[in-house]
Amino acid sequence: TGCGVVSDGSANTKNNEGTGNAAAGKDDGKIVIGLSMDTLKEERWQKDRDIFSAKVKELGGDVKVLAANGDDATQLNQAEQLISQGVDVLVVIAHNAEATAPIVEKAHKEGIKVIAYDRLINNAEVDYYISFDNVRVGELQAQAIIDQAPTGNIVYIGGADTDNNAHMFKTGAMNILKPLEEKGDIKIVYDQFSKDWKPEEALKNMENALTAVKNDVQGVVAANDGTAGGAIQALTSQGMAGQIPVSGQDADLAAVQRIAEGTQQMTVYKPIKSIATKAAEMAMAAAKGEDISTDTTVYNGKIDVPSVLLDPIPVSKDELSILIEDGFHKLEDVYKNVP
Ligand code: BGC
Repeated sequence: TGCGVVSDGSANTKNNEGTGNAAAGKDDGKIVIGLSMDTLKEERWQKDRDIFSAKVKELGGDVKVLAANGDDATQLNQAEQLISQGVDVLVVIAHNAEATAPIVEKAHKEGIKVIAYDRLINNAEVDYYISFDNVRVGELQAQAIIDQAPTGNIVYIGGADTDNNAHMFKTGAMNILKPLEEKGDIKIVYDQFSKDWKPEEALKNMENALTAVKNDVQGVVAANDGTAGGAIQALTSQGMAGQIPVSGQDADLAAVQRIAEGTQQMTVYKPIKSIATKAAEMAMAAAKGEDISTDTTVYNGKIDVPSVLLDPIPVSKDELSILIEDGFHKLEDVYKNVP
């Protein structure tokens, strides 16, 4: 539904000189969008970068991308570089929801609008936020696990404590799990974040969970495909892989292959093309000082940030064709390990 972004792509001619009133003073008159990324580690982020950059270029702009390798100081530094290079709009994928707040202030001092991409920046006057409905992501994950494991011991393997999304995914999961725990149907026997979303941290978490309850686990809600991979590795060591359902998110190729093989129950597919395209349109519109219509607001501890939240799609074994039809993965890759 409602894409909500009012950005008239047709106003951008192929002639770049024609595009930018707001870009006046730039050498070639082109609008330049800065993209400050946390990381390129998970498979999705390269897609985000590539699709976003291509769309900005298609709309007549240029992109400067810097990725911080999961380091707060580096991300601050890189954002400052982009600001001082005079980008027209700054799009930030925050490593740390709190630590990125000063970036917003610095950009605003130079009259540069800031769009939080996928991850919210807390306690700052962020101009726009574009993401998926992340609480819904968590609900979808937990529901899929509960459908398979309606009673028994459930493990929650969270994402990075520093990422606002990880908290929203958890809120969503707990919306489903807590009432069932109160009813006495299930027990949440383990619930920990995994530092920086690292699969090896998730592996350790899962090992600890298994040890704590002597392998008596009926379902695992893992916050993304990377952490699911870590959890499944721990299950494999105990001969339990494929015997209990594990959730994920991102539709990473490795995860999709695990779903085809039967060691992962589901993933949550977030069409990267939608978020990257929309974000590029928003950034270009913001650069031109155009109005951007949003669907909702999300409170970030300081303001209600005008937001566009896209719909996540749960994908289990029977729905893998969605990914193929959408061009997200190729059929032969998905079923590569399935005899
Ligand atoms: C994103 C997920 C991603 C995770 C780790 C989250 O903020 O929403 O798609 O798997 O970060 O990079």
